[in-house]
Amino acid sequence: MSSDSPPTVVIGLEVHVQLSTESKLFCGCSTKFGAGPNTQTCPVCIGMPGVLPVLNRKAVELAIKAALALNCTIARSTKWDRKNYYYPDLPKGYQISQFDLPLSHDGWLAISDPKGLLPPKRIGIIRAHLEEDAGKSMHDEAAGKAPSRIDLNRAGTPLLEIVSQPDLRSADEAKTYLTELKLLLGYLGVSDCNMQEGSLRVDANINLHLDTPQGRVATPIVEVKNMNSFRAVERAMEYEARRQLEVWRETGRKLGDVPKSTHGWDETSQKTYLQRAKEESSDYRYFPEPDLVPVTFSEAQVERVRAALGELPAALRTRLETTYGITPYQSDVLVNQGRALVDYYIDLADRLGDGRLAGNWVQQDVLRALGEQHLGIEQFPVGPAALAELIEAVRAGRLTTSRGREVLARMIADAQPFAPTIAAMGIGAVDESELEKLCRGLLAANPKIVAEVKEGKLKGLGSLIGAAKKKNPNVNPNQVRETCLRLIEKRTAGPEL
Ligand code: ZN
Ligand code: MN
Repeated sequence: MSSDSPPTVVIGLEVHVQLSTESKLFCGCSTKFGAGPNTQTCPVCIGMPGVLPVLNRKAVELAIKAALALNCTIARSTKWDRKNYYYPDLPKGYQISQFDLPLSHDGWLAISDPKGLLPPKRIGIIRAHLEEDAGKSMHDEAAGKAPSRIDLNRAGTPLLEIVSQPDLRSADEAKTYLTELKLLLGYLGVSDCNMQEGSLRVDANINLHLDTPQGRVATPIVEVKNMNSFRAVERAMEYEARRQLEVWRETGRKLGDVPKSTHGWDETSQKTYLQRAKEESSDYRYFPEPDLVPVTFSEAQVERVRAALGELPAALRTRLETTYGITPYQSDVLVNQGRALVDYYIDLADRLGDGRLAGNWVQQDVLRALGEQHLGIEQFPVGPAALAELIEAVRAGRLTTSRGREVLARMIADAQPFAPTIAAMGIGAVDESELEKLCRGLLAANPKIVAEVKEGKLKGLGSLIGAAKKKNPNVNPNQVRETCLRLIEKRTAGPEL
């Protein structure tokens, strides 16, 4: 048997994001997370007879915003369809969605190579459409002790379903795409994309393309559900690619008539498991929603939304690299933290007139402090002006970098600006004569080091500097070193003391 060329992994993602509206898609009920079960419902969203849906204008606006940022074409006219299926958390017996005339289609999202080796790649977007969410079935919240219950607070919540082309070629790329998508939607203010609260859900379609002597073949597509983090998506894709290859080998490299199937992801065993043979769209008996009129957009309406998009992550990265001279890696780190941190960085860089220096401090010190204290930049007690003053003192040599870090820690802890902090820490320039006195004392106490230095062995100077800093944390190490050397030289030249 000839050796196999590695299989091509082919992944397409369907992402549902909850749009950041106050109220639901077709009624006035609140979409706020965390309320008691079934407290945010009304006759419309629980499917009582005789009620009529009314479209939420804001949801349409947010959907267009996201679609434009994903480079999609906005349909001039879009309509609603009923997707029929039975499930206890779907009280109407159908979901209002969009079938053949989605709100937008044919866009793309650029992602950078996860390893940073290749240029950015465009992942095609087939469509992005609006639909309503179902309720939540709580099967095992009481660990099998209670019967299943239904919470309809989510029912009718506006979702944007974003369907990618099968352009992703690895688990890593899938994760990168999701990270970039989430970042983009966050910059747009379209969704908070909180996976824990169900504001972002991912279904993944995956199969393998294999080269055989008979030509190229493809394994049956598996749709994977129930992945509750980007990491889980990555793991599920890695697992499923391995599993499909094994099945293909074990079944004698015949694909047979295996149908498409839906698998769940089990976080505990880190495995996928078969849920059901996949349904086709014809199974849902889509038909036009008779209670809602089609929605049309004028060119002017779409352009108004486009004009208000603001600066998006990709453009912002480029601007930081060209205007402030930081590396693509650094701009990525900053932009991925969100707009507020980028604004902080820009303010600092402008004050210092040095984008790289500002980048180093923000990346190493500010982000570390934010991480340690679980703060957002909005709550960070040291503003760009105060940090600039501190960095200025370090740049001018009035503070060492490590002493500067201690000052920053104190500024954060006390929520105080630079000047009062160094005053409180007793930091001023150390007086020349004071420094000389300190060094004389150290030399007198360490005759062995003095003798070594006289023989040209300078290693012991380090411990003198350490001892000097212990006695006075504000001394400059270089000054201690120079002063000690000068004093030792004096002694060598003059008569022995
Ligand atoms: Zn309602
Ligand atoms: Mn959907």
